[in-house]
Amino acid sequence: MSEASKVGQVSGIKVSVIGAAGRMGSTVCRTVEAAPDTELVGRYDLGDDLGDLGGADVVVEFSVPGSAGANVAHCIDQGVHVVVGTTGWTQDALDAVSSQLANRPGVGVLIAPNFAIGAILMMSFAQQAARFYESVEIVELHHPDKVDAPSGTAARTASLIARARREAGLGEVPDATTSDPGGARGARVDGIPVHALRLRGLVAHQEVMLGAAGELLTIRHDSFDRVSFMPGVMAAVRAVADHPGLTLGLETYLGLT
Ligand code: NAD
Repeated sequence: MSEASKVGQVSGIKVSVIGAAGRMGSTVCRTVEAAPDTELVGRYDLGDDLGDLGGADVVVEFSVPGSAGANVAHCIDQGVHVVVGTTGWTQDALDAVSSQLANRPGVGVLIAPNFAIGAILMMSFAQQAARFYESVEIVELHHPDKVDAPSGTAARTASLIARARREAGLGEVPDATTSDPGGARGARVDGIPVHALRLRGLVAHQEVMLGAAGELLTIRHDSFDRVSFMPGVMAAVRAVADHPGLTLGLETYLGLT
């Protein structure tokens, strides 16, 4: 029998949370319980048998990068829509989700690296600005308990910027560095330099710095509290059933693409 506790009896969208004991998962549980149109039917964490997922219509998944793939596969297998916030997805893992969904045409899966509306706008603004600037670098800043780097948001921002630069015919970002034994120039994601900072006291923050001759444009977003992610998570819970298949990024649901 599942260790998960099942709670709530009122009608609405039935929601279960995987990673329910974590920082994000517990915030999601409180938000789902407080909303008038959602009902929390299951909390699952490490070691729990996911079983029938508490009869959920939608599962919200905020666990760890190494476990999210198997958890999402179980949800799809059960025919349950999934809203995924866990980061660290590889292309192979995304391809596996797409293949599985091909046999479950009615099921929707949203994988979003950032549910904060401001962060989604920051990514969109950076994508718009990218074609006008020769140089661009991304600095992501997070709490030191985060296990993956660079952040999913930074990786997604980099790929959106890289695509905009390619479409505009821009080449590589200029960089004369020939010696960097310690990796001081950061990582490259799709050719875009990304720098990850981990500092106690932070939650989730990102700057996109765009440089051209004589000017610098900085686009910055700060999440000071995990409640900043909840409006986006709830918007996704309400909309995921209307978006069958795999969707990457909440921006699609918000009409920003
Ligand atoms: P956390 O460590 O506080 O919580 C993770 C929880 O998952 C823990 O309770 C852990 O016991 C549980 N867990 C581990 N393995 C599991 C498994 N196999 N099945 C079920 N539960 C399991 O982490 P967090 O800060 O809540 O972040 C969770 C994830 O969400 C991370 O990948 C983080 O980067 C990501 N995140 C995404 C957003 C977003 O907006 N998309 C925002 C913040 C964090």
